[in-house]
Amino acid sequence: MRILVTGGAGFIGSHLVDRLVAEGHQVAVVDDCSTGFRTQVCEGASFHEISICGNGLEAAFQAAEPEAVFHLAAQTSVVRSLRDPSGDAEINIQGTLRVLQQSVARGVRRFIFSSTGGAIYGDPATLPATEAYLPRPSSPYGVSKLAAESYVAAICPASGIRFAALRYGNVYGPRQDPFGEAGVIAIFANAMITGTRPVIFGDGNQERDYVFVDDAVEANLLALAADRDGVFNIGTGEGTSVQKIFETIAAETHYRGQPAHAPERPGEVKRIHLDAGYAARVLDWRPRVPLADGLRRTIKSFPN
Ligand code: NAD
Repeated sequence: MRILVTGGAGFIGSHLVDRLVAEGHQVAVVDDCSTGFRTQVCEGASFHEISICGNGLEAAFQAAEPEAVFHLAAQTSVVRSLRDPSGDAEINIQGTLRVLQQSVARGVRRFIFSSTGGAIYGDPATLPATEAYLPRPSSPYGVSKLAAESYVAAICPASGIRFAALRYGNVYGPRQDPFGEAGVIAIFANAMITGTRPVIFGDGNQERDYVFVDDAVEANLLALAADRDGVFNIGTGEGTSVQKIFETIAAETHYRGQPAHAPERPGEVKRIHLDAGYAARVLDWRPRVPLADGLRRTIKSFPN
C-alpha cells in the first residue's frame, strides 16, 4: 500500500516505518524533527521534513497519494503541555485536524491514530481501565489527545474512512529518547549505564502499564488490516511501579546507587493500567514481550 506516517522520525513512528517498509509498503514520512531524528528514518521511506501545522502538508499528501495514514506526530510531553497548553493544542488538535482534512481530500481509506491510554483516563477508580471508562484527563496533553481522537472518530466515518485509535500505555524500547521528559525506562537505563544518579519524581509508587515498542507496532499493523472501526486500549493490564522499574534496571545494569527524589510532577496520574480485551477480541492483538525481556532489549540498545 501507499502509506503516509506522520511522526515517522520519532520513537514509535520510526519502528513502525521500518516494519512497513520491510513488509513491502511504499512509505512517506512527515516529521519536523522537533523531537524525532532524520537518522532514525529508514532509507526505504521518502522523507518530508515539515510540520503538520505548516505549509507543505498538502504537497506531501499530493506526492505520497496515501491509501492509509498513520498519525503519530504530536507534542508528547505532559510537562510541556502544562507550560504551554495552547502550543500543545496547536499541534495535537489543529495539527490532527489538518492531517485529517488532507486525508479526506485525498481519498485516504484507512486512518490509524496514536492515542494514549496513559493520559486520558485520569486516575480510574477501578483498574485495569476499559475503553468504556469515562475519560478524565489530568493534563492538557491528555485533553488534546482525547479531543484529537474524538475528531478522528467523528470525521472518518462521515468521510468513508475506516479508522482505529490506539490508546497505548507507556511504550518503551530502543530509540526512546533518554533526554526527553517522558520515557522513564530510557532515562533510567541511560543514567545508570553512564553512572548518573536517576531521579524519581514523587514516592516511586506511581504505576504505569509498560508496553514494548514492537507490540505497539504490531497493534498498528493489525489495525491497518482490520475491517472494523474502533478505539482500542493497547496495554498489558498490569501496573508496574517506578520504584520497581528502578530496581529491575539497577539489577540488570549492576548499578549500586540510590535514586534521587524530587517532588511529584503536576498532571501525572498515580496509577493506570489498561484492559486490552477489546483489542484481543477484535484485532487479535496481545502483548508478546514480557517486561523483563523488553527491559533487557532496551538496556542492550544503549552503548556501554
Ligand atoms: P516522539 O516524540 O518520539 O514522536 C513524535 C514525533 O512527532 C517526533 O518525531 C516529532 O519530531 C514529531 N512531531 C512533533 N510535532 C510535529 C509537528 N508539528 N509536525 C511534524 N512532526 C511533528 O514520541 P513517541 O513516543 O514516538 O509518540 C508517538 C505517538 O504516540 C504520539 O502521538 C504520542 O502521543 C503517542 N503515545 C506515545 C506513548 C509513549 O509511551 N511513547 C504513549 C501514548 C501515546
